[in-house]
Amino acid sequence: MKWLALFAAVPLIAWLPLPDFWIFQLNYIGLYALTCLGLVLLTGVSGLTSFGQAAFVGMGAYTTAWLTLNLGMSPWMTLFVGLALTGVSALVVGLITLRMSGHYLPLATISWGLALYYLMGNLDALGKYDGLLGLKSLSIPGPEGDFDLGQGRAFFVLTWLILMVAAMGFTHLLDSRAGRAIRSLKNGTQMAEAMGINTFRYKVTVFILAALLASVAGWLMAHFQRTVNPSAFGLKMGIEYLFMAVVGGVGYVWGAIVGAGLIKLMDDQLQVLLPRLIGTSGSYEVIVFGIALVLVLKYLPDGLWSLVARHLPRRNRTEDWTHAEALEERNKPCPGEVVLDVQNIRKQFGGLVAVNDICFQIKAGQIVGLIGPNGAGKSTTFNLITGVLPLTSGTVTFQDETISGLPSRDIARRGMARTFQHVKMIPDMTVLENVAMGAYSRSHRGVLSGMLRTNVAEERRLFKEAQHQLERIGIGHTLHELAGNLAMGQQRLMEIARALCADPALLLLDEPAAGLRHKEKLALADVLRQLRGEGVSILLVEHDMDLVMKVCDHLVVMEFGTLLTQGTPEEIQQSPAVRAAYLGTEH
Ligand code: ADP
Ligand code: MG
Repeated sequence: MKWLALFAAVPLIAWLPLPDFWIFQLNYIGLYALTCLGLVLLTGVSGLTSFGQAAFVGMGAYTTAWLTLNLGMSPWMTLFVGLALTGVSALVVGLITLRMSGHYLPLATISWGLALYYLMGNLDALGKYDGLLGLKSLSIPGPEGDFDLGQGRAFFVLTWLILMVAAMGFTHLLDSRAGRAIRSLKNGTQMAEAMGINTFRYKVTVFILAALLASVAGWLMAHFQRTVNPSAFGLKMGIEYLFMAVVGGVGYVWGAIVGAGLIKLMDDQLQVLLPRLIGTSGSYEVIVFGIALVLVLKYLPDGLWSLVARHLPRRNRTEDWTHAEALEERNKPCPGEVVLDVQNIRKQFGGLVAVNDICFQIKAGQIVGLIGPNGAGKSTTFNLITGVLPLTSGTVTFQDETISGLPSRDIARRGMARTFQHVKMIPDMTVLENVAMGAYSRSHRGVLSGMLRTNVAEERRLFKEAQHQLERIGIGHTLHELAGNLAMGQQRLMEIARALCADPALLLLDEPAAGLRHKEKLALADVLRQLRGEGVSILLVEHDMDLVMKVCDHLVVMEFGTLLTQGTPEEIQQSPAVRAAYLGTEH
């Protein structure tokens, strides 16, 4: 409904008796906002900063310019040629640069942005720095001659309808299985990979989507201005696009339009105003933009749209999944079967041997406790088993398959789920959405399906599962809260619910009871026993000895990276070596 209203609003605005100049400005704003929208997805949502977006605009613009002028092709065809070219280029550039981390990615985007700029400026076929002139404006062929879209109201309707369609697609995407994966990219890849998500693939996908949108903007712009030249696609424009996205609100789809509008209008005003104030002409507006950017980043890091978003009511998801079909379950191993076999695993950090040739086994339906003082190497052992850290040596076998060397997402997909000692979640997503990510590897719908909303049935199944696991773990009432607002103990429980959504054969819990109240601990113990009854095996790292002794069938004790001893809880309680390790007494 909301979208229908927005779509209808576009032609209505074109009908309003606005001055032509306003429509002309709105056309520019629409063009900029298209590119900016891609940046919101790429930089704002996924945390991948790109200064090179203008180059993709150039690619769309030059493709249509060259093909329509030299080959006489219809612009309605060249659009797709431009998209194909941009898509392939973005794929190649993305594959090369997106593995870079930290400051390297922005630097790389600057360099290929510059490279493409100089390429456009130096190729004879592209008219060097003068560019290509004499393009036709877009027109729709009709029986009584072509209908020219020109630079006015008709062009406005086309541009803004494309913008609205893109905004709708992105909004839907971000609210889907693939979208949640994309929203996780900013918070590091460890958690997402542990859910079975291929984060690199999503980065490349987002990069291509943003580039395609820029390419469409370039195509429109070429026929709007009826000329293309490199200056509109250089680094300065790349920075300006990024600036629009940051000012408007990096994480918000509507921020793209606010940012594009504001910067375009400011740019126009300053170009007139500043030379008058200063007395000489020059690109002084860049300095003002710089200062404004610093101020925005300092006082409004989430951009202008965050001011609006704060006052919009947060929409609670309608709970329409009660009758959804349950997700398919894994075949669990038979009781007594060896589920996990850890043989001589070792991890060295430089000179420090954090895990020193540890061996143990977990059988189906067993709860094994891994205990030891702080720094003993328990969390590192977890990371080795789950593939978060590469092994220095040794092997890990999971359900008769060697998994050492596999990336953590492939291990997760085989039915191993975990929590982290330091909770890893997406704070600005609801508890329900966070937990639904746990069932990622039990579902399939991708980016396109998210955009087109053909994923509704699967989404319902995911949310049903998430709600079920949250209720089971005793925090069903937190469903619609933002995960970041939960108390520490509840965040831990949320992580367990998320891990359970994977329907794991083996569950690894790293200090799940830390920060829990007594009652919550009792409830946790009940859930663990219930899971064991269902055939789930559990590896538990925990400092609360009361809980450990109560629920575990077998204990493995570590100290300084080595295996001190293992046995039943009774045997361990009697062991002088363990007492010494914990109490620091001689034995
Ligand atoms: P535990 O979970 O038993 O408290 P950890 O597995 O976290 O212990 O740590 C074991 C040892 O390995 C500690 O001495 C810790 O400082 C060291 N360590 C853990 N992770 C790293 C790392 N990424 N780089 C270097 N040293 C590490
Ligand atoms: Mg630890």
